[in-house]
Amino acid sequence: MVQPIVFPVVGPVTYADDFGQPRPGGPHQGNDLMAPRKAIAVAAEGGTVKFWTTSLAAGCMLYLKGNSGTMYEYIHLNNDLTAGNDNRGKCVAGVAYAPGLKDGARVQAGQQVGYVGDSGDANGIATHLHFEVHQNGGKAVDPYPFLQAATPLLFYAKPGSPFVLSLTGTVVTATADKLQVQVTTLQSWPSGLTVTKLVKPLTLAVPATATVQQKPGGPGGMRLLSAYEGQPVVVWTQPALASLKAERGDDGALTAALVQLG
Ligand SMILES: [Zn+2]
Repeated sequence: MVQPIVFPVVGPVTYADDFGQPRPGGPHQGNDLMAPRKAIAVAAEGGTVKFWTTSLAAGCMLYLKGNSGTMYEYIHLNNDLTAGNDNRGKCVAGVAYAPGLKDGARVQAGQQVGYVGDSGDANGIATHLHFEVHQNGGKAVDPYPFLQAATPLLFYAKPGSPFVLSLTGTVVTATADKLQVQVTTLQSWPSGLTVTKLVKPLTLAVPATATVQQKPGGPGGMRLLSAYEGQPVVVWTQPALASLKAERGDDGALTAALVQLG
């Protein structure tokens, strides 16, 4: 059974089903998620983390023992202090692991556990997360179906900390208090992360207090119902506190403060 997980990397990522491919150490036991250095790695599900720092091949590594009984491995986490491949960082919180994260700590689904990197035998090759899935703690199974079914986070902010998003795209549907947007560019603050070409439209709550404008600087007081399918739109969200629902972009979990129809 493929249980639903949170996609373990936030932001731009590419991967293929490379499980079982021949590698120098034997068949590949995971999938390699290619992502920028220091991209945020999050807990696939709630559970308990264990740091592993002594494997020359894995480098800075983390085990996540999930509440479901599935164990996940996060391998080649970051060991660089600068934007380059300096190898000057240790396998510690704030470098390889999430800031303030303690070995043995409980984490929630979608909470940051680490940073993507190229430690261990990935050094200088390509920054990526080698991600493994072990159901019931047994031997590795192919993570690909889990990743394909996983929910990605649109952005990351520490649980309970404030964030704002700007969403650029086109209108899918509009009602008096809801707007569905096909997003082409999502920018998030304070992280600064930009995500492009979202697959799924986002449904935002648009309360009566939101400003709806025809275009930047145009008159307010427009009604959302005048929006039509395919119309260019920019939405700024209300400042809110980060939650998994908001980070996943669940229907109505994001609230618009300003809607600019183009
Ligand atoms: Zn790998």
